[in-house]
Amino acid sequence: MDWLGWIDGLALLAGSGLLLLLAVTSWREGEWRAVWLSLLFMAANIFFWVTLLLSRHAATALSANLALLVLLAVFIGLSLLKHFPSQPLPPAPETIERFDERDHMFSRDQLKFHPGLAGSYYGEHPQFRPLDEKIHLRPELAAPGMVYHDPVYSPVFAAAFSLLDRTRAAAGGDVNPERSAATAAEIAAAVLRLARFYGAVDVGIAPLRPHHFYSHSGRRAEGWGEPIAAGRGSAVVVVVRMDWKMIARAPSLVAVLESSRQYVEAAKIAMLVAEYIRGLGYPARAHTDGNYQVLCVPLAIDAGLGELGRLGLLIHPVHGPCVRLAVVTSELELPPSRGRDFYAASFCRICRKCADNCPTRAIPAGEEPVVRGFRHWSIKQEKCFEFWKRIGSDCAVCIRACPYTKPDTLLHRLVRFYISRNPLNQRLALFFDDLFYGRRKKISPVNPDEILPA
Ligand code: SF4
Ligand code: SF4
Repeated sequence: MDWLGWIDGLALLAGSGLLLLLAVTSWREGEWRAVWLSLLFMAANIFFWVTLLLSRHAATALSANLALLVLLAVFIGLSLLKHFPSQPLPPAPETIERFDERDHMFSRDQLKFHPGLAGSYYGEHPQFRPLDEKIHLRPELAAPGMVYHDPVYSPVFAAAFSLLDRTRAAAGGDVNPERSAATAAEIAAAVLRLARFYGAVDVGIAPLRPHHFYSHSGRRAEGWGEPIAAGRGSAVVVVVRMDWKMIARAPSLVAVLESSRQYVEAAKIAMLVAEYIRGLGYPARAHTDGNYQVLCVPLAIDAGLGELGRLGLLIHPVHGPCVRLAVVTSELELPPSRGRDFYAASFCRICRKCADNCPTRAIPAGEEPVVRGFRHWSIKQEKCFEFWKRIGSDCAVCIRACPYTKPDTLLHRLVRFYISRNPLNQRLALFFDDLFYGRRKKISPVNPDEILPA
């Protein structure tokens, strides 16, 4: 065979190999539309290159063949080119307004139990009263009669959150009066290893800034409205991964069970890290579900663990938004972690899949809104939470719909590399993501038959 034949043969094998990888991966993931389409494309790819191979000696076919190979080489070269137009600069920290925990929907939902606090809050924020009062009348999440209620398994996630509530006391604790001789660098290395050893898929360190802290406490009646002092030092941010197969069932009890499981896991690791740091003689506090004084997502971004996505959550470079976070704050000045750009923010500008799939249009479909004094992705929490209370469960459809919510396999690693090169690759990847996996996710009105694996 001549050199042209060898190159054509190589193109045939490379294209078919990639499509076979896509077919096998999709079969393992239960993505049947992607399986059939990749097999169809593979058959077309084989037919095309074999026809070209057999007819390449004809004069017209020869020039077409050469032109095609040149185009293919240009396409591969462009795909590898790393170029993104300059990205917007992050806001100056001093321009960011601190978030008041009393404004959070979880805090506002609790006001129904505390008429005195409700009077004080809605006196200052009358615009929230009509919607909040409607939400207050709805049953609690997991209550009987709600769409995804199950008499046997709903109490499991209720138990997880109840346990988290009861372990709040372990967030802080006594500090060893004898301070360790270990250096900050040694402690940082140990903390990063310790968190991974106990199950974190990623962990990073960020220097604490005032805007990382809530301005006032608001989640509980006890201490409601008390100012939160913005501490100095460092935050250790712990990332745990949610099982994408369970999140693929969102919204349903299956997805809630998984998110509650990972809140427990993240809390376990954070409490252990905080305990370890206190044992070395430095104050430390764990921030876990329902017991935060800091905002996890901005801290995770500053710790180099990912970027802010349109859906208002962290996009982790490997696990996308399919993660849960916990934080440990400490007065220790630990060396900060460095992340790497993977340009999710640029992808979010063209993607909008979470916004299109959000049942209540809580996610902005246009530009980033200006919230708390700076332009960034932020969802309409009232619309989101109102939907949760309507279905009696948290939702997570946006996490499920996000193209970054994929398992960490060879195929998805290749795609993640591809979309981190340039905006053209991102547009092509989005087109194929829509084609192979579909743009709209179906929402089931009932729980799947199997709620927890046997
Ligand atoms: S959790 Fe559901 S309702 Fe809330 S923003 Fe995501 S998709 Fe929308
Ligand atoms: S679905 Fe698309 S737009 Fe939304 S967070 Fe994921 S990548 Fe960004």
